[in-house]
Amino acid sequence: MKLICIGRNYTEHIKELENERPTDPVVFLKPDTSILLKKQPFFIPDFSDDVHHEVEILIKINKVGKYISKKFAYKYYDEIGLGIDFTARDLQSQLKAKGLPWEKAKAFDGAAVIGKWLPKNNFTDVNNINFTLQKNDEVVQSGNTQLMLWKIDELIEYVSKYFTLKIGDIIFTGTPAGVGKVFANDQLKGYIGDEEMFSIKVK
Ligand code: ZN
Repeated sequence: MKLICIGRNYTEHIKELENERPTDPVVFLKPDTSILLKKQPFFIPDFSDDVHHEVEILIKINKVGKYISKKFAYKYYDEIGLGIDFTARDLQSQLKAKGLPWEKAKAFDGAAVIGKWLPKNNFTDVNNINFTLQKNDEVVQSGNTQLMLWKIDELIEYVSKYFTLKIGDIIFTGTPAGVGKVFANDQLKGYIGDEEMFSIKVK
């Protein structure tokens, strides 16, 4: 399985990193080895002094598909989750400056937190889902899927032009504003609405 990640999908986050607003979605992949194992802490890697949390809504693909039109995209997922796209921001900035790929900054072991899954049918509108990240019981990121530049179904249409989507693949849909550095002993908790989706200790 693969993790397909979207960058720069929320205007306020584009502004905080002073990035250009993209004309197409920014797409990158993480390997399955980047998935943080259940109940394990996240260890800050020794090659970075500035690892950021990016909380993101996740979509789990339930059917094989390619060139999926957005009109039919809803048929390709029936679970919604929440996760973190951990990013070694210092390393990413160096790579970006040189025009190099981001993998070392985004795809390292443990860099993908995947919380629990909720049935899509729990939601009256997938384009109006509130989610938050708390760091040490303080809300540091909050978003709503209606603020996405490309909505879930548009993302499925877009990424499936390039990659065949397979059962179990997961799409990270981008982070809202409020990304920030994590420190040893931080506790990160993600919520969709009032429901706790994950709780991670940083070491
Ligand atoms: Zn991200």
